[in-house]
Amino acid sequence: MKRKPDTIFITFEKALKKRFAVGAFNFYNLETLQAILEAGEAMASPVICSVSEGALKYMGIDATVMMFDALTEKKKYPAYLHLDHGKSFEVCRKAIDAGFDSVMIDGSSLPFDENVKLTKRVVKYADKHGVFVEGEIGTLSGIEDNVEVEDKDARFTNPKEAKQFVMQTGVNSVAVAIGTSHGAYKFSGEPKLRIDILSEIEKELGKFPIVLHGASTVDAKIVRQINARGGKIKGAKGVSPKELALICSEHNVCKVNVDTDLRLCFIASLRKNLKASPKEINPRFFLSDAREEMKNLVISKIKLFQGNL
Ligand SMILES: [Zn+2]
Repeated sequence: MKRKPDTIFITFEKALKKRFAVGAFNFYNLETLQAILEAGEAMASPVICSVSEGALKYMGIDATVMMFDALTEKKKYPAYLHLDHGKSFEVCRKAIDAGFDSVMIDGSSLPFDENVKLTKRVVKYADKHGVFVEGEIGTLSGIEDNVEVEDKDARFTNPKEAKQFVMQTGVNSVAVAIGTSHGAYKFSGEPKLRIDILSEIEKELGKFPIVLHGASTVDAKIVRQINARGGKIKGAKGVSPKELALICSEHNVCKVNVDTDLRLCFIASLRKNLKASPKEINPRFFLSDAREEMKNLVISKIKLFQGNL
């Protein structure tokens, strides 16, 4: 497929100007990618299709890009292939060479200067290929594939540092830590996002795209459904949809990542149907339902990120 990498820059400009966020949804097989793409088409909305390093290993980089290209060739609305949490220059370089539209270089666990150095190197390489780069400053707690942060309290992004980071690296967007966290176990107490810190960051950065990770809702109903059918997911609370819709429509948050909620939805559907249809041996029977339910969830997330509850 002929790639038009510049369109992702236009999408972010629009998101910044019109105050909405583009959903970035993780996929790891054919069905999950189809679910995201079909939801984007149904909503006439751009979507970012994210691949973590773990998912990349699972699918293989060539198969990932070929599958993405084949499924997006006839799409009406833009879909972008994005590397989520690239931890090294090498993995970012591979993704850029393979034709990704966008990469995240996550040097957030490094000391500031090293994070700047690594991110700058990726930006320099990506620039030559017209690829979009997301950096991260401040550490999110929780677990997402290879990303583990031991400290239970999220280390919030320092707004002044965020500005220095953006100026020194030349990144196109920046992921910040304002209290969200990765994985299904988000908040033990009442979830609290530091909107004050987000506003401070915005004051420092001016009109600049901000990215929110770890913003899944972790719907208690879905967790209960999974556990009622043999799952063992500990109860947890995520970010409230209302708060998220508000953040997307009133702040410079242009990209919101969703992974945990999609996983929960997919697994809940599989568990439900496996239990309900014990004689069925056609995997497609189970996968097609899971795909449909994930698609509906992605649609509801897109609405939320457009500021509609
Ligand atoms: Zn993340």
